[in-house]
Amino acid sequence: MINRRNFLLGSGAVSAVAVMGLVPSLFSRRAGAQTTSEKFEITLTDAQWHQRLSEDQYRILREAGTERPYSSPLNAEHRQGEFACAGCNLALFSSATKFDSHTGWPSFWQPLPDAALTSRDTTLGMVRDEVHCRRCGGHLGHVFDDGPKPTGLRYCMNGLAMTFTPKA
Ligand SMILES: [Zn+2]
Repeated sequence: MINRRNFLLGSGAVSAVAVMGLVPSLFSRRAGAQTTSEKFEITLTDAQWHQRLSEDQYRILREAGTERPYSSPLNAEHRQGEFACAGCNLALFSSATKFDSHTGWPSFWQPLPDAALTSRDTTLGMVRDEVHCRRCGGHLGHVFDDGPKPTGLRYCMNGLAMTFTPKA
């Protein structure tokens, strides 16, 4: 079932025009979440984020960077459990919606309710829909409309932006 919120999230908002990450270093975008940090529940200073995150995590979550494909151990994570934001620990995705997209990035067809937000990303002359954490604004990845049923969406996520907790 597609609930109304996720339908709205996906419909019309998704324009897949490029495969993300062909040239990962070019996907860094300094503006990132900082420009709109006021509206997020969790806001930290740059120094605090540096303290909380590794350098690679900071580059992705706070500067909208992209990890190298097939570099995340979460690609091969097939246990039942939950994927949470590495910045603020908000639960983002259930393993029940994970699928193998063969892109080299952990991929899901639907986020958990009230977990992820999208915004239009026009960097590099492409129109993509950027996905970020609802609570801390951390950049997670992009969403495309070439995913599997039932939503047809592909949430292409950076493994470094998430932590995994297996179901107890
Ligand atoms: Zn977060």
